[in-house]
Amino acid sequence: MTFITRFAPSPTGPLHLGHAFSALLASDLAKQHNGSFLLRIEDIDQSRARAVWEQQIYEDLAWLGLEWPRPVLRQSDRLPRYRAALQTLTDLGLTYACRCNRADIEAAAGAPQEGVPQFGPDGRIYPGTCRDRRIVPPAPRDVIRLDMRAALAQLGALSFVETSPELGGCIRIDPEHLLTGVGDIILVRRNMGSSYHLSVVVDDADQGITDVVRGADLFETTQIHVVLQSLLSLPVPRYHHHRLIRDAEGKRLAKRDDARAIAKYRSEGASPTDIREMVGLRDIVT
Ligand code: GLU
Repeated sequence: MTFITRFAPSPTGPLHLGHAFSALLASDLAKQHNGSFLLRIEDIDQSRARAVWEQQIYEDLAWLGLEWPRPVLRQSDRLPRYRAALQTLTDLGLTYACRCNRADIEAAAGAPQEGVPQFGPDGRIYPGTCRDRRIVPPAPRDVIRLDMRAALAQLGALSFVETSPELGGCIRIDPEHLLTGVGDIILVRRNMGSSYHLSVVVDDADQGITDVVRGADLFETTQIHVVLQSLLSLPVPRYHHHRLIRDAEGKRLAKRDDARAIAKYRSEGASPTDIREMVGLRDIVT
């Protein structure tokens, strides 16, 4: 079985224990399967990406004992590729320009109704204000969205293979949930030329990723990716959604949790083996 996985951090802050766990697990699984572990730098948000954080990523991962082929793929180098994928979706009649700002969206969403979700994996569920406005051509500042209803009408049943021991099996995606709990996701963010969702599916396909190893917090996001892969006729990888590393209060670690930064543990004299123990990955796979 071919096994190619990746770790895909954004250089917008220090890597913390949660990232260490994800990267070590992906690399361990690649070794177990005689496969490959790749590193990808997800830096399309140039307003937040910093060269110093990218450098720190390389240093932290090397210190942890990880190895990856070079040169690494950097998303900021690939905007034409994302534009081509967007064009495919536009040619299918599935995209539209959106000029709403946050306040417009909140106003249009109205008062919360019982049982109706307000937020999905892509933030506040878009009420569809610009869907029928037909803003052509879009201005550079416009956001481009996927018309989820139109997209689902072009697709058959959707599913993906989950390989984590906890959730493992064939996960069927509920189209009704995509409509009401996810909605018209963003394909191109303001002034960014792409979005996380569009870039990730294009890159995973171009890099031949067979197995995506990522946190369980992205489980719903994966459903969006399967929609895009199906629309773009890209292979759907297997997914391993792993447990999350939490702080003492049980909260998921975030980039701003500098106290959990790998660099901080390093500077305090911890060893890579200590980090493995902290995240519950005791056995080193060689
Ligand atoms: N850049 C994303 C992150 O850091 C990658 C997650 C993924 O697609 O697996 O959360």
